Amino acid sequence: MTRWDEKQARLRAFLTRGAVGDLTVALLRRLAKMSPCIFCKIIRGESPGAILYRDEQVTAFRDAHPAAPVHILIVPNRHIVSVNELEPGDEPLIGHLFSVAKQLAQQEGVQESGYRLIVNTGAHGGQTVPHLHLHLIGGQRMRHPMG
Ligand code: 5GP
Ligand code: ZN
Repeated sequence: MTRWDEKQARLRAFLTRGAVGDLTVALLRRLAKMSPCIFCKIIRGESPGAILYRDEQVTAFRDAHPAAPVHILIVPNRHIVSVNELEPGDEPLIGHLFSVAKQLAQQEGVQESGYRLIVNTGAHGGQTVPHLHLHLIGGQRMRHPMG
């Protein structure tokens, strides 16, 4: 880790914890609501970023601010805001998100070492981009406890 990486990690920790974290999440949510959906733009190929996987249902790309050496977002191609908007007919889609996550974990070489799959939902869940996404995070032992 370079000094710059360490500084970034410290800033990220500061901005995502406690009361400051609540303010950061609220600000990012407000910004996301004001602008066109950034994940829809990535899915449509209108925003730069390497697409790691794409099929008719889902797209996967690297997180712009990785929390670990491997940090991939797997998103439905359809604009679904969050888990709250899911319908019974979406069950195969959600199963597919996990199948793609497993495939990417293998591809990224973290299947055996282990990884974390996270779906943040709403304000208390820390969701900042209102387009449902599954985080695949790995490549290091997870340090932060949940909650
Ligand atoms: P959430 O906080 O909603 O669970 O996760 C949103 C994630 O999207 C964050 O980890 C953030 O770093 C990532 N992100 C936000 N904007 C962009 C972007 O424009 N491109 C990419 N690749 N990731 C983004
Ligand atoms: Zn969207």
